[in-house]
Amino acid sequence: MNAPTQGWVVIAGLGPGDEALVTSQVQDALGQATDVVGYIPYVRRIAPRDGLTLHESDNRVELDRAAHALDMAAQGRRVVVVSSGDPGVFAMASALFEALEAGPEAWRELDIQVLPGITAMLAAAARIGAPLGHDFCAINLSDNLKPWDLIETRLRAAGGAGFAMAFYNPRSKSRPHQFARALEILREECGGDTLISFARAVSTDEERIVTVTLDEATPDMADMRTVVIVGNRDTRRVGRFVYTPRSAE
Ligand code: SAH
Repeated sequence: MNAPTQGWVVIAGLGPGDEALVTSQVQDALGQATDVVGYIPYVRRIAPRDGLTLHESDNRVELDRAAHALDMAAQGRRVVVVSSGDPGVFAMASALFEALEAGPEAWRELDIQVLPGITAMLAAAARIGAPLGHDFCAINLSDNLKPWDLIETRLRAAGGAGFAMAFYNPRSKSRPHQFARALEILREECGGDTLISFARAVSTDEERIVTVTLDEATPDMADMRTVVIVGNRDTRRVGRFVYTPRSAE
């Protein structure tokens, strides 16, 4: 009988787009992998090589993808599950643990590691200046996995409590009106002169970053490649930068 080979699963973040922002830990894991699993545009970022199988899957099949990765690792494969940004931020790490929870008991003994990446809001914040320099929160504006009512409740609570905010998945073709509604709520809770930055395709050749006030913001300024950052009431401009002071009263 063959000795069992040691399989593993690494859930890795590829950062916002620039290859220089992929950590060397993630590069090492990719160098040792036999299989890479992920959503099509993320897997396409991985250079093909001999001995490496690339498994591209559609969006919205995260649980199947995670179970596939665990199953391959149980058979001795070395599997990297890729996400953009950080895998723990609205991405594959939670999906993998959901699949682990629902799957066979033996999967829990597998060698599983999460490797962090630079998430979109931090890459964007660094370009903008320091808009998240005081207390902040991150909210996914997609209602694929939660009801829109809950999103409105959280927007009101966060805006009303004076948090700066980062919004992921702000606006898609399938739900064009929701982001307009989010802007209305933010104007009510934060005031129309609060600064809002739209950071699109950060760290790629198509990067575009615009800062306006909430009163000036229009829904078409965001799409699914944009992360939106709303400041708190102290967030302000200095030269070409936007920053939030470290203190508040
Ligand atoms: N795990 C990812 C987020 C996945 S959700 C991360 O940590 O960044 C997908 C959303 O992330 C997009 O709709 C967009 O809001 C944001 N996003 C991802 N990459 C981005 C980039 N390079 N520039 C701006 N926003 C980005």
